[in-house]
Amino acid sequence: MKRLEPVSSGRLCPSEPGGRPVFWQATGRRGGVSRAPFDGANLADYVGDDPLAVRANHEALCSDIGVGELAFMAAVHGGDVAVVEHGGRYSNVDALVTTSPGIGLLALAADCVPLALADRQGAVIGVVHCGWKGLGANVIHHTVESMRQRGATAITAVVGPSICPRCYPVPPERVAQVAREVCPEVAAAALHIPGSIHVAAGCIAQLAALDIQHIQVAGCTAESQGLFSYRRDQRTGRQGICARI
Ligand SMILES: [Zn+2]
Repeated sequence: MKRLEPVSSGRLCPSEPGGRPVFWQATGRRGGVSRAPFDGANLADYVGDDPLAVRANHEALCSDIGVGELAFMAAVHGGDVAVVEHGGRYSNVDALVTTSPGIGLLALAADCVPLALADRQGAVIGVVHCGWKGLGANVIHHTVESMRQRGATAITAVVGPSICPRCYPVPPERVAQVAREVCPEVAAAALHIPGSIHVAAGCIAQLAALDIQHIQVAGCTAESQGLFSYRRDQRTGRQGICARI
């Protein structure tokens, strides 16, 4: 098995006795078995990569994070959340939530923001894929709501690597659309540099509005050769953020 080389990983310890730790890992481009242009740690089965290579990379991630199965998404830039009890591919959602230990939840991205969310008692976790459309679709809010309905109290978020605003200039129509569709405090954060969108800053503003602390994994996807970037390379793989109870 060719291991992935994660860009960052950690363990969130329970805040009170009786809780369970949550493990998370942010993957990058290095390690894995995929060939160019998906080299090497591509985790997406919808980008044209060899399915056997993607499966091998998934197995390497499972072994790394200590789970038998992964639940992952074919994300659609919407606001819907799937609550899952089993591994597999979930279509038409941009977020997954589970209360089941032993399943790795995986959000994929290559410029958009992948996030992991963990209840501090380890009772419920979630992962989210959020781009500028996801800010308008309130996908982070919906995920947090679903987690709180399942008993989450204090939640910690891990914000994975994404594209920085310098590398993400957009036309004025796009800026206007974000200003129109996204709630004002989130839009202010996402649009703080004229002519570009800072999606991660928008996500962090949304987390703050929900009273959620965050850890941020450094790195711009477009500037780092150790990360996949759709904007830079078009035909390329996806990294991700994986979490498990
Ligand atoms: Zn950049």
